[in-house]
Amino acid sequence: MTSIFRMLFAIPRAIVRLVWRLFWGIVKTAIVLGVILFAINFYAEHSNSALAQSIFQIRETVSNFFSSTSASELKQTLSHLSTDDFVTYDGARWTHPKATVYIASTDATLVAAYQEALANWNATGSFTFTQVTNKSDAQIILADESDSSSQAAGLAELKTNSLTNHITHVDVKLNRYYLLDNDFGYTYERIVNTAEHELGHAIGLFHDDNEDSVMQSSGSYYGIQQVDIAAVNKLYQEN
Ligand SMILES: [Zn+2]
Repeated sequence: MTSIFRMLFAIPRAIVRLVWRLFWGIVKTAIVLGVILFAINFYAEHSNSALAQSIFQIRETVSNFFSSTSASELKQTLSHLSTDDFVTYDGARWTHPKATVYIASTDATLVAAYQEALANWNATGSFTFTQVTNKSDAQIILADESDSSSQAAGLAELKTNSLTNHITHVDVKLNRYYLLDNDFGYTYERIVNTAEHELGHAIGLFHDDNEDSVMQSSGSYYGIQQVDIAAVNKLYQEN
């Protein structure tokens, strides 16, 4: 019996010893590496030789890679992931395919993008946006915000009449934090696409990730496509 117990204890003891040795091995290696790197660094900073210069340059490159470069690359990645937030209801639409709009944004780029997006939707003939000069007369308000806590480049919030499921008011916001910071890589064209996407929600459209569509949930790589016009026509065909 005792020999079985001894064997049972011997196994975990051997494992603990192995882990302990491994741990000290890593610590010793780290200390030796640290001393070597410190010595090289000291040499690079206190010598004018060509070798010291090139070590110094390598060190700069490495530290740059881990600081600024990776931060802006992370931002680039984020801009591709960036999607938008929208609140809507299944089958919600305006009574007729038309609505009044007020541009509340004061940023020149975003105002221009909104104007272009409105003109592009109007050109399709599927829905008519009419700009008004009085905010209180507008059914759709096009604004902006700077929100770093959100992953969204844009936002559309719809209010509907619960009896008819008809849209009564929409608030659209473009997120300056992503769209206007060069590090996120949004071209003007993608800003217009984002505005067209949010207006698509304001019309009553949902996301469409199955084809090339302005309503793709992320990326904003497409403007209004034939499938989007067809989707609006379908939504408003029954009166
Ligand atoms: Zn969306």
